[in-house]
Amino acid sequence: MSATIDRKARTSPRVLILGGGTVGLYAARRLRKRLGRREAAIVVVDPRPYMTYAPFLPETAAGSIDPRNVVAPHRRSLKGVDVLQGKVMRIEHAARRVQIAPEEGEPYWVSYDFLVVGLGSVARTLPIPGLVEQGIGFKNVEEAIAVRNHVLGRIDAAASTWDPQIRRRMLTFVFVGGGFAGVEAIAEVEDIAGYTVKKYRQVEPDELRFVLVEGSTRILPEVSAELGGYTLDQLRTRSIEIHLATFLTSCVDGHVVLSDGTEMDAETLVWTAGVKANPVLKDSDLPLDERGRVITNATLEVTAADGTVVADAFAAGDCAAVPDLVNPGQTCPPNAQHALRQGKHLGENLARVLRSAPPTPYAHRNIGAVASLGMYQGVAQMFGRFKVRGFPAWVLHRTYHVFAMPTWNRKIRIMAGWTWSLLLRREVIALGSLQDPRAEFLAAAVGGPSPDAPPAAAPSGAGPASNGSDERTAPSRTAASGTAPSAAVAGSGTGARA
Ligand SMILES: Cc1cc2nc3c(=O)[nH]c(=O)nc-3n(C[C@H](O)[C@H](O)[C@H](O)COP(=O)(O)OP(=O)(O)OC[C@H]3O[C@@H](n4cnc5c(N)ncnc54)[C@H](O)[C@@H]3O)c2cc1C
Repeated sequence: MSATIDRKARTSPRVLILGGGTVGLYAARRLRKRLGRREAAIVVVDPRPYMTYAPFLPETAAGSIDPRNVVAPHRRSLKGVDVLQGKVMRIEHAARRVQIAPEEGEPYWVSYDFLVVGLGSVARTLPIPGLVEQGIGFKNVEEAIAVRNHVLGRIDAAASTWDPQIRRRMLTFVFVGGGFAGVEAIAEVEDIAGYTVKKYRQVEPDELRFVLVEGSTRILPEVSAELGGYTLDQLRTRSIEIHLATFLTSCVDGHVVLSDGTEMDAETLVWTAGVKANPVLKDSDLPLDERGRVITNATLEVTAADGTVVADAFAAGDCAAVPDLVNPGQTCPPNAQHALRQGKHLGENLARVLRSAPPTPYAHRNIGAVASLGMYQGVAQMFGRFKVRGFPAWVLHRTYHVFAMPTWNRKIRIMAGWTWSLLLRREVIALGSLQDPRAEFLAAAVGGPSPDAPPAAAPSGAGPASNGSDERTAPSRTAASGTAPSAAVAGSGTGARA
């Protein structure tokens, strides 16, 4: 049985916004700014209590930004808006109702008068053997923290492991997908890993192996071939191994096999090979295109395939096929630049409709692309023509995104964090057990050894030979602590999964 939040009790129209991400947050804020509480009740539904600014996730994984500052909490950012924490399970627009599953308890239905769909996208995965068990995405802050803790944790663990094979596996990090997310993620994480090993006597920098796998013949399709080539050279100079026109074919138990014949063992596999529209849309009566996105017209109103407007429904962002008026015949690409502006525009249009004014078309000319490649390094292409690289591009990246980050509170916190890092240096602590805080208590309660206790037969004296040539047969920490030897990010106790 599922309850219903009934529409009878309402005295003003209810706008139900699905997803409190970029589109949801900006649409709700704009609507609230334009309309008084008596003119509309606004409800945002999201399983997370915050909006995540994804372009800063690579810097979050690198520790340059505190994870708390890369999110905008709904309760604080959405004044005058009701927030429901739960997952949209089903959309029945014809009946003007949506089914929501709260974190605990029975699902319930919420009725509405106007619908806004801003459900974003999810990782586009493929049926590759081992991927589900071994991989982790890089789409949300939990995953960025998990990747950081895992990578730093593997360096910690390798520093106390003698078996050269296990060390190699621990220190091999594979990223799949050479778009913005994958390139920025590997560049930032490699940068922090390189910075971290300098502080270890037992791990040599050349023991770190970072591998980027990309199916097409180039990386960063968002910028010109010239800048993509420059980025490729930069990453290769840093010894990042790049396999172009190559696919991941298998990664069962952490044994990674690529289509070009390369094989390696890796405990870390980060999947950033594209996104697809939120799959919950399939369980709806909204019109979808062949890629599962909600079809809209230029005013961001949902339309049928023949262009007929579906009454009372709007959509935008990664989950919507919005016509790109600047590039006729195309739809807007799934990026924050569009999502943010579409969210505001959608709020504006819905406020107009509620006041019986006609909505206006959305048009935005891409202002460019900026990418950070680690501390003081970056690439940028502005207005299609101006190409910037190195330190100026890195400054441009930080400046652009810090101003795009929602709320002054977050902008100031991020800038303060950067200033402190300059003065006090970056933090390189791995807090891998954050994801399993009860493990030690449980071990104590059942009388077993603490999961963090050193291995029973741990060798005394100096650490392992950093070149892996030490022939002592001391049990590795991996084997002694019961950690699955082939565990990837998801299975190694850092376990945040999408
Ligand atoms: C690592 C990374 C780096 C990026 N870098 C850039 C960049 O440099 N520049 C750029 O322009 N773009 C970048 N992007 C893309 C950009 O972040 C997205 O295009 C943008 O966030 C899309 O906004 P959205 O509102 O459509 O989706 P989102 O912001 O993802 O919001 C979707 C919301 O829906 C919620 N949700 C999901 N499922 C449900 C459900 N069943 N019920 C209720 N709520 C649900 C989610 O929790 C989320 O809050 C990057 C993305 C990533 C992952």
